[in-house]
Amino acid sequence: MINLNEKYSAIKQKTNIFIEKGIPVLRLELSDVTNPTRAKCNGKDILLAGTNNYMGCTFDEECIKAGYEALHNYGTGTTGSRAANGGYDLHTQLEKNLAHYLKRKYCSIFTTGYQANLAVISTYVTKGDKVFVDIDSHASIYDGCRLSGAEIIVFKHNDAQDLAKRLERNKDAPGGKLVILEGLYSMFGDRAPLHDFVDLKQKYDFTLLLDEAHSFGIIGENGRGLAEEQGVEEHIDLIVGTFSKSLGSIGGFAASNSEDFNLLPYIARPYIFSASQCPSSIATTIEALKQFERKPERRKRSKMLSEKLHAGLKALGLNIACDVPSPIVAVKIADENELVKKWNDLLENGLYVNIALPPGTPSGTYLLRCSVSSAHQESDIEQIISIFQKCVV
Ligand code: PMP
Repeated sequence: MINLNEKYSAIKQKTNIFIEKGIPVLRLELSDVTNPTRAKCNGKDILLAGTNNYMGCTFDEECIKAGYEALHNYGTGTTGSRAANGGYDLHTQLEKNLAHYLKRKYCSIFTTGYQANLAVISTYVTKGDKVFVDIDSHASIYDGCRLSGAEIIVFKHNDAQDLAKRLERNKDAPGGKLVILEGLYSMFGDRAPLHDFVDLKQKYDFTLLLDEAHSFGIIGENGRGLAEEQGVEEHIDLIVGTFSKSLGSIGGFAASNSEDFNLLPYIARPYIFSASQCPSSIATTIEALKQFERKPERRKRSKMLSEKLHAGLKALGLNIACDVPSPIVAVKIADENELVKKWNDLLENGLYVNIALPPGTPSGTYLLRCSVSSAHQESDIEQIISIFQKCVV
C-alpha cells in the first residue's frame, strides 16, 4: 500500500507550517465574490489584489450575458474532446476571432493555458530535438518539455547571450530546435528583452515560441502582448496564451502563421484526450476579446494603477522584484517564515495577494505578489499600499 504521508513527508511538514500559522495558504477559500476586486474570506471583507484579473472581465455585464445565452443555447458542457465529440461553432468562432486579433493565420484553443503549452511544445519537439527554456519558465512550459521527450536545455533568465552560447554549442546537432520565452514573467512581472532573442535568429535556426499569458490583453497598444510592445511580432513563430487572466475565463490558445500548425489537433495529446471547454466560458471569452478592441481605456487605466502601486510600495522602502512597473508588482521577502507571517497579516487586515515561493519562484525567492486589475479604484491602490505599510514594512 502506498503511503502518501511517507512519500511526501517533506511537503507534509511544509503544509503543517502553513496551517499552524493560520489559514491554509494553498487552500484559501473565498466566498461572496461580488466583483473583480472584492470577496469575503472567513466572513471578513477582503480586497483582492492577487487574481490576475487584469482587465476586470469576470463581472463585465456583457460577458455575463454572453455566458448565460450560451448556457441556455448550448447547455453546460461539451462532455468530450473535439476529436471525439466534435467541436461547437463557438469554438471555431473564437479561434477565428483570436487569429484575427493576433494578426495570425491560424489559431487553436485548448481547455486550459497549461494544456496549450503541453500541446504545442510536445507537438513541435519530440525525442531527438532540443528545446531551450528560460530558467524562470512557468511549470506548464517545463511540463510540456518533459512530455515532448526532447532534450531540455535551460538558459539564464532573460539572458540572450547565455542562450547564444548554448545554441552555438548545439549548432551542428541534428533535430529541431525550439526556443521558449515568456512575455511578462508571471512572478516578478519583468519583461523579456525580445529584441536580443530575436536577433539570434539571424545566426541560428530555431522556432521561437512566446508565452504571453500575463501580457495578452494588457501590454502593447492594442493588447497583443509584449511582442507588440517591443515591435517584434513578425519574428515570433508561435504565440501561446490563456483565457484565465485578462480574458476572465478559462482556456488557452496557440497561434501561428505557419500552415503546418494545422496538424496540431491531429497530434497533440492534451488536445485530443481532454474535453473541450464548456460553451459558456467560450462565449464569455469571445465577448471579452471584443472588449480588448472596444475598451482600450482599460489598458491605460491598468498602466496608471500599476505605476501608482509600484511607486507606492517602492516609496515604503520595500524590495520590489522588478524596477519597471507592470500589472504584476511583487515584493521580495527574506524567508519562508516571514513570508507566511506577513501574508497572514495582510489577509487579517483585509488584503489578499499571492504568496509565491519555490518551486513557483526561483530558488530562495519569496514573494508577496500583487496583480493590478483595471477594475481597481485608485482608492483601492491606496488601501493596498497602506495595508503593506502596516503589515510588511
Ligand atoms: N503560462 C504561464 C506563463 C502562466 O503563468 C500560466 C498560469 N499561471 C499558464 C501558462 C497556464 O495557464 P492556465 O492557468 O490557463 O492553465
